[in-house]
Amino acid sequence: MARRKKPLPFIEKLEIVDVGAEGKAVGRYNERVVFVPFAATGDVADVQVFKKRKNYYEARIVHLHKKSEYRVEPECSHFGLCGGCKWQHIDYQYQLAFKQKQVRDALERIAKVPYPDVMPILGSDKPYYYRNKLEFTFSDRRWLTELDTSKEEGGPENTNGLGFHLPGMFDKILDIEHCYLQKDPSNDIRVEVKKYALEHGLSFYNVRSQEGFLRNLIIRTAVTGDLMVIVVFGHESNEIADVMDFVAERFPEITSLMYVVNEKKNDTISDLEIKLFKGKPFIMETMPSPVEGEPPFRFKVGPVSFYQTNPEQAFKLYKTAFEFAEFQGNELVYDLYTGTGTIAAFISRAVKRVIGVEYLEDAVRDARENMKLNAIDNVEFYSGDLAGLLDEEFFATQGKPDIIVTDPPRAGMHQKVVRQMLIAGPQKIIYVSCNPATQARDIALLNEKYEVKKVQPVDMFPQTHHVENVVLLGKR
Ligand code: SAH
Repeated sequence: MARRKKPLPFIEKLEIVDVGAEGKAVGRYNERVVFVPFAATGDVADVQVFKKRKNYYEARIVHLHKKSEYRVEPECSHFGLCGGCKWQHIDYQYQLAFKQKQVRDALERIAKVPYPDVMPILGSDKPYYYRNKLEFTFSDRRWLTELDTSKEEGGPENTNGLGFHLPGMFDKILDIEHCYLQKDPSNDIRVEVKKYALEHGLSFYNVRSQEGFLRNLIIRTAVTGDLMVIVVFGHESNEIADVMDFVAERFPEITSLMYVVNEKKNDTISDLEIKLFKGKPFIMETMPSPVEGEPPFRFKVGPVSFYQTNPEQAFKLYKTAFEFAEFQGNELVYDLYTGTGTIAAFISRAVKRVIGVEYLEDAVRDARENMKLNAIDNVEFYSGDLAGLLDEEFFATQGKPDIIVTDPPRAGMHQKVVRQMLIAGPQKIIYVSCNPATQARDIALLNEKYEVKKVQPVDMFPQTHHVENVVLLGKR
């Protein structure tokens, strides 16, 4: 006999007491943690549980009795549905305070090593319109909201949309009216391309049947004013030229206009031929030097090259790393997880030699080109998995580093990499991280030989729970 499912609890007057993992607000009910997205510390709310797990519930706000003092009115009309800026309802100053606390908590609870006062987080002057890259998805079945007519009323005639994936749902696209993440003319481009497509009856992609003409729209802006637009089509067609002509004429400010035909199941375009329609095959980024009076660095960013998505804050991040190092001029520095070599370039003028290591060969190719572009001749790059590449032989041929700068992805460093760092024994390690939890885990291992000297969080992603953190470790 089928067991009747017990209804999930409706919790009255739940008090939100903290910010937990993934930035979700936290309450407590019957010895269980309750995660409530889009709530804020200090809220008192009736919530409906929609997911029950062994140790926690996930619940949605049904009625808000008391508003948190940290709340502000979200700017964006898509707040609450869109996965992009989940902290818009929290005052920016408090967002910063929560991030600061997240860094402290990680050191306290995960690293469990002595550490000095965490320096006040470097906030952003631009809490909106800070991203230089956005990727939008076309869908013939956009997520319907209360603005659409209901099923009983016949439903909307047209369900085409262009926007972002709903959090955790690969096939659900939220149509976006205005996005607060990227500067002009990003919104105009998205809106105009959609309008053109609707007016001309072009088909929007369907992820389930893998059919449809328009798939993705990628927009990359640069501090130089350069602007790249890539239109991704689901199949070849004579209409491609018409779409591209329209974009080129409507937005003459685009400096790099490209398109791709993607007939694969996944959205990745790095393995496809990207065709240049108009302009240059790259955009130029610049970043100031950490030393005043010195010329800025220039970086070439191709359609699939990695570049920090918030360049103004990336400068503060790199500058922190630079200042923590207190270079004397004669050092051999390893820049691990170097990407396209931006940190390597940034520090190159202040040291004797830099060795950059990076997994992706394409990134290394970009990195080498970037060095040429900046007339930097004291940086060398090696491509490979750090866990295998960094060994005694590498140190014997390249020399042991005086300083290591490391900037791993969210998963942090492989234990083997940490062990090799301990063997190499540089005077200082500067650990740049986008995930304070894995950083703290790695710091616990490094504690064998290194103590935490300085901690500086940086906010690269306002309106989200993400935080970047730079730690200076000194040899004991
Ligand atoms: N420091 C760079 C990029 C940091 S992102 C910047 O500031 O722009 C992290 C980089 O680590 C990515 O480029 C990724 O390709 C690389 N990476 C990830 N795992 C790696 C591994 N096991 N070995 C080497 N590089 C790796």
